Amino acid sequence: MTDTFDGGCACGALRYRMHSRPMFVHCCHCKDCQRQTGTAFSVLVGVPTDALQIEGADNLGSFTTVGTDTKEDVKRQFCRECGSPVVSIGDAFPGVTFIKAGTLNDRSWLQPQLHVWTDSAQPWVPLDAHPGMTLPRGPSA
Ligand SMILES: [Zn+2]
Ligand SMILES: [Zn+2]
Repeated sequence: MTDTFDGGCACGALRYRMHSRPMFVHCCHCKDCQRQTGTAFSVLVGVPTDALQIEGADNLGSFTTVGTDTKEDVKRQFCRECGSPVVSIGDAFPGVTFIKAGTLNDRSWLQPQLHVWTDSAQPWVPLDAHPGMTLPRGPSA
């Protein structure tokens, strides 16, 4: 894994930098992630909130979804200028911020360890390529 761990939105108004290594990488197939990202699933990097520094936070918009099963709030934060989803913060995970992995400057090291909310996964997503890493239920972020 790289030591370079920074990224930002499409227009550059929002940048972030991490001061520690990521805790985990997972793919979330929940319907809220599908809708928010406009695609089949989110690739999320979990990081300690304390170690994440966001520049341009004035441009950070936020929309809260409530997990269908968990009933927990997820704050989905995005750039107000370009609309890129950048981070999510879930009440179910205090102290953890989920970075949308596509916003990283260096994505070469990404290796998802887990697929969650696979009940709503699109049928053509090859979950079988990751045996032992799927859960029928999991956290929504
Ligand atoms: Zn932007
Ligand atoms: Zn999700």
